[in-house]
Amino acid sequence: MRAALVRELHAPLTVEEVELRAPHADEARVRIEAAAFCITDALAMGGFTFAEPPFISGHSAVGEVLEVGEAVTRVQVGQRVVVAGSTECGTCFYCARNQPAACEGIFGGMIPPRFVARDAAGADVTADGGIGVFAQENVLRDMQLVPVDSDLPAEHLCMLGCGITSGLGAVFNIAELEPGSSVAVVGCGHLGLWMIQAARLAGAAAIIAVEPIAARRALAGDLGATHLVDPADGDPVEQVKALTGGRGADYALEAAGSTVAMAQAVAMTRPAGTMVATGMEAPDSTVTLSAIDFAISGKRMLSSQSGGSHIRRDVPRFAAMLERGEIDPLPIVSRLYGLDEINDAVGAARAREVLTGVIVPG
Ligand SMILES: [Zn+2]
Ligand SMILES: [Zn+2]
Repeated sequence: MRAALVRELHAPLTVEEVELRAPHADEARVRIEAAAFCITDALAMGGFTFAEPPFISGHSAVGEVLEVGEAVTRVQVGQRVVVAGSTECGTCFYCARNQPAACEGIFGGMIPPRFVARDAAGADVTADGGIGVFAQENVLRDMQLVPVDSDLPAEHLCMLGCGITSGLGAVFNIAELEPGSSVAVVGCGHLGLWMIQAARLAGAAAIIAVEPIAARRALAGDLGATHLVDPADGDPVEQVKALTGGRGADYALEAAGSTVAMAQAVAMTRPAGTMVATGMEAPDSTVTLSAIDFAISGKRMLSSQSGGSHIRRDVPRFAAMLERGEIDPLPIVSRLYGLDEINDAVGAARAREVLTGVIVPG
């Protein structure tokens, strides 16, 4: 089968024929129908996840189960499944505390590297983060597979593995947004646009979209933002305060992946309000905050790994929201790419030319 391999960090991927190994007892072999490209994948191709080349990247997909190991109980051959970027093993320290977004399976999936295939020369190929979906097939642990009973297009369902879950989860699971609130969303890429749709569903009274790219601001308005803030018009913190009685927003959600945006989101949160950070600039980035904000403002500053998702609960419920048309995936998928076009997808994501590029391995 064919897979896109990271042969070298910071270099174009190569699409090659590889030989997939048989699934282990707790794994299923899955044919990948579609895989969403996430900016985290571009970071991984630069060494962010410490994966050692050659590896297969990608962590959010939908596919069909072709074969299961003898200990697999969660999925069956022939089922359509979402491959999630987060795991839910059900037994680790975190899962036992009802905090599966920190499941040891996701970080444990990287160390030691999971060998999944051999290349034409017989060398080991691993899977980034223990996942790896930019391939026609892969062997995946059942702790990150969730069956979806849906006939929706694969290019929409594949976003349930990361983008939809991270965006909606940040609003429903982490912020626990109250109806009638004011919400500022900093950054309107795919994640911010999912947050805006979730905030609308949660009954936010004011949804303020902060975004420098005009087309993204306009789309934010189409998807539910009530106010559009262009940072070019002046300090976005002051603009948000001006729209919220001078206090700041009840909730500020950072979805830009920059430390500047994180600090701005804290500053534009009203005293005793809630700030949620979801982006990632680089592994060694640091955020500087005002000590007043940090120590005595009463602001809740929350980190959101995969939207605090419980994938076995959230993937089906968010899939049902797609089914009912409550969230709109159409404008979020900018382009479909064949496996051979994956370097175009990487470039377009890095240049912010697309919201979500979807790889269809074929
Ligand atoms: Zn776990
Ligand atoms: Zn992702």
